[in-house]
Amino acid sequence: MGLFGKSKKVETAIATLQSEKVKSDIILSSVEDGVVMVDAKNVIQLFNPAATKISGWLAGEAVGLDYKLVLKLVDEKDVAYNEEQHPFARVFQNKTSDRDTAATLVGKDGKHIAVDLSASPLLSQDGNIQGAVCVFRDVTEQRREEKQRAEFISTASHEMRTPVAAIEGYLALALNEKVSKIDTKARGFLEKAHESTERLGKLFQDLLTSAKAEDGRLSSHPIVNEMGDYLEHLTEDLRFVAEKKGLAMEFIVGSASGGTMSDASKLVKPLYYVLADADRMREVVTNLFDNAVKYTEAGKITIGITGDDKVVQFRIHDTGPGIPAEDLPHLFQKFYRVDNSATRTIGGTGLGLFICKKIVELYDGRIWVESTLGMGSTFFINLPRLSSERAIHLQAKEKGQGDSSIITPSTPGTPTTGSIA
Ligand code: ADP
Repeated sequence: MGLFGKSKKVETAIATLQSEKVKSDIILSSVEDGVVMVDAKNVIQLFNPAATKISGWLAGEAVGLDYKLVLKLVDEKDVAYNEEQHPFARVFQNKTSDRDTAATLVGKDGKHIAVDLSASPLLSQDGNIQGAVCVFRDVTEQRREEKQRAEFISTASHEMRTPVAAIEGYLALALNEKVSKIDTKARGFLEKAHESTERLGKLFQDLLTSAKAEDGRLSSHPIVNEMGDYLEHLTEDLRFVAEKKGLAMEFIVGSASGGTMSDASKLVKPLYYVLADADRMREVVTNLFDNAVKYTEAGKITIGITGDDKVVQFRIHDTGPGIPAEDLPHLFQKFYRVDNSATRTIGGTGLGLFICKKIVELYDGRIWVESTLGMGSTFFINLPRLSSERAIHLQAKEKGQGDSSIITPSTPGTPTTGSIA
């Protein structure tokens, strides 16, 4: 092939490339989603017109800057994201795509814009990260609608809960032999009505709690709590419910594999201090326990506590039916219920685990489940652990603010990070 032929080929290739570039430029200019590309050094290389429209930064200003200066994000409490929280940072760390549906972008002029961001890594063929691309959209309107919806649910369930509580109370009186005389047939009807009213009351309560959890209005008074004793007492309170269904109940301190503590370690009882609201944590453990009882036909429920110097870990294990692998990632979503014959006959709202997650997150904790179908389920909760010195110091401060370290709420929002041993 002659020189001419070759250059013709190159020309065609250049023309093709240029036309490809024109095409991608057209696409990037016309999409309504903001598109930002950074290189491996976090420097912005591409900033499309929609990104300008949403953020207020011109492409000419943004390109060449570190993304942290341009895509400033804050959470729902207006707290700036730390370095690891940013979707770009997470992509660089994990080399996988990341999504953030709850962020707020601080525009160039300081305006706050609700955004939904997805970031993906740009990987070379040998798997090295070359940069990342972030696509984001303004979701101010959706968030406003969601907030309105949550407010409606919360007002409606609050209003409905009150008469339902009254009906429940009167039905209980009607069923109380010391107060009312009713025949056997009427008792049967009223018992059914009482059961349904209880379920309805629980539904309204769950709806109210989940609506509050979603818009950050869940009341919480975190104080220093020693979880070892706390959980042991709570297990004793719950034991009756498990045994009524014929299930055994066990409380274990220490690692699951190690079983119960050795005689020597029993002498030195570990102190599992955390900063949390004891009433809220009771809600979480009781919810997980109620599920364990509800879904387990036979066997045992084990409540355990263990920890290392950073973390206190709770676990609630059952010998129930287990959970299919495909359902595990969705279990903590609102209204999610595994669709099988058991859940179709066993009542529930699908709100319990969602509420548990929201509460655990209030204390910078994590909740998850490990389960194999047919082999039971174990729900875990990790909470940041306070060293004994830190716990005693904080308790003294709490005492200074009130009379009792148990019932006096400390200032909500007391920092947990940085205080962990
Ligand atoms: P529900 O009101 O349906 O119990 P939850 O949010 O508490 O709602 O739980 C969501 C779903 O997770 C349940 O519907 C059930 O399918 C499954 N699940 C929860 N706990 C267990 C458990 N211990 N064993 C088996 N399945 C469970």
